[in-house]
Amino acid sequence: MTLTIGKKKNIALIAHDSKKRDLIAWCNANQEILKSHFLCGTGTTALMITEATGLPVKGYNSGPLGGDQQIGAKIVEGRVDFVIFFSDPLTAQPHDPDVKALLRIAQVYDIPIANNKATADFLITSPLMTSEYDHTVIDFHQNIRERASTL
Ligand code: PGA
Repeated sequence: MTLTIGKKKNIALIAHDSKKRDLIAWCNANQEILKSHFLCGTGTTALMITEATGLPVKGYNSGPLGGDQQIGAKIVEGRVDFVIFFSDPLTAQPHDPDVKALLRIAQVYDIPIANNKATADFLITSPLMTSEYDHTVIDFHQNIRERASTL
């Protein structure tokens, strides 16, 4: 089925500890663009961005305490449609399964997701930031009916 990412995006912001300063600097540099969208994030990241930039960022739980899973659930519900996730590829994370689950569900629902600054820079400067974007995702009702009829 076709879903539409609106002009005003629902952006989730997440940074692992060693990347939090980088994400704050990125939010500062892109403040003018970010302030015309809805922002949310994992608890510590959200709080630190708001304190540093004044941008309103709705905070979920801290990542290791389920914040990534909450954001994943919002993607499933269609309430998060854009993710900036400055992850740390060099440090083992206690919530690694949750991080993988978030990446996977963003892929399933065809959500733009940046895992590093360069990708985030390309995404935020895309002309699609100021327009609607239609994308095709699995029709979950139909998917359930089909599965139930074949199993
Ligand atoms: P935090 O969580 O913003 O609460 O630090 C981020 C994460 O580690 O996934």
